[in-house]
Amino acid sequence: MRVFKFGGASVNSAEAVRNMAHIVQMHLTEEPLVVVVSAMGKTTNLLEKLVPGGGPATENRQELRQQLEDYHLGIANTLIPNDEKLVGKVRSLLCRLDETIAALQPQAEHYNYNYDQVVSYGELVSTTIIAHYLNHLGTRTLWADARQLIRTDRHYREGRVDWQATQEALERQKAAFRQGADSRSSCQVVLTQGFIGGTDDGNTTTLGREGSDYSAAILAYCLRAESITIWKDVPGFLNADPKYFPDTVKINQIPYDEAIELAYYGASVIHPKTVKPIQNRGIPLYIRSFITPESDGSVIGNYHTISPETPLYIIRNNQMLLSIYPRDYSFIAEDNLQVIFGLLNELGIRVNLMQNSALSFSICVDNNPQLVERLIDRLKSMFLVRYNEHLQLITIRYYTQAVIDRIVSGRSILLEQRSRLTEQLVVPAR
Ligand code: ASP
Ligand code: MG
Repeated sequence: MRVFKFGGASVNSAEAVRNMAHIVQMHLTEEPLVVVVSAMGKTTNLLEKLVPGGGPATENRQELRQQLEDYHLGIANTLIPNDEKLVGKVRSLLCRLDETIAALQPQAEHYNYNYDQVVSYGELVSTTIIAHYLNHLGTRTLWADARQLIRTDRHYREGRVDWQATQEALERQKAAFRQGADSRSSCQVVLTQGFIGGTDDGNTTTLGREGSDYSAAILAYCLRAESITIWKDVPGFLNADPKYFPDTVKINQIPYDEAIELAYYGASVIHPKTVKPIQNRGIPLYIRSFITPESDGSVIGNYHTISPETPLYIIRNNQMLLSIYPRDYSFIAEDNLQVIFGLLNELGIRVNLMQNSALSFSICVDNNPQLVERLIDRLKSMFLVRYNEHLQLITIRYYTQAVIDRIVSGRSILLEQRSRLTEQLVVPAR
């Protein structure tokens, strides 16, 4: 089996869905194709505003809810004009969303649970429309409920996969996948939702924002798929973000470990959790463009080096550098570090870069004002904390001195770290 994944941008309009359906149809074989789809366009952002328990109530709820309906019905009606059955399906899902929201407890402590119950509707609606459309085109498509396939614990908003239960659920479904919905004719496409999963007691969970890539990887792993293809709006894995670098180079082949490193440093082309499961089974992951689907793209697989070999640039914006000094003039040693790391772990703050000297410990973190404020507050009794804001963390893999000089060119460097393959610089944002 092969797994395809289409993100929100690839299904954000009727035209985009037509294009996506065309790509799917070009790749049908004897075996069903497993297709994982995100919510359409920016639907997840909109749904986030409807989640009860998340700070001040959004006043324009009514309006947002209407937008949600108009947007999806607009796409449905453009794809298949006057299809009452499809309109009915979309409407009834949105009614269920209303009922779900009404039944949730509005206290902040329920927020994470509420979030998953509400936001998951983006994927449920998108896949309902697309499955119906594919069937309308004559592509025999089975709509599969990811909440019954991808089983997670009850860690809402960041569900942790129960691999055993997921594997078993998929084993049970495999025959149904082959047979299709009515068992008279085998199905060609199994269409399911990215991003969402379910607990053993029947609640919906999500895997974290942008988690649909990870969903595709989980399915590929458990189904022992022969490959996975992520369809994106870029021609493949580029050596830099074209927003910041005019001359990007497409990397054709990337070793698994390299892809994991790059995602860790902040390369946004795939979700960081995606690669590990498929590496464990040696499944190649293709990144291809839904805009130019005939071109080759990139592949992450069992390679020794990237090809072509060229420097890779990753920029993390909105960074903050915290320098932490013990108030009692002690050295920065294991006891101090233990306190600092304990707090970072407790608050869920990820360290993007760290460095220590005898007297201070510096960390570069995403500038999330609430979290950082809480961290500083907690550190205050033992440490003096200084910080700089409006910074960028630039990572260069396979650097050369000339490349570093060009990137730095006159900017002041607040922190620099160099290893054999990787140069990292914290500099003021431009
Ligand atoms: N729809 C979800 C999000 O926007 C998941 C995804 O697109 O990967 O985060
Ligand atoms: Mg997305």
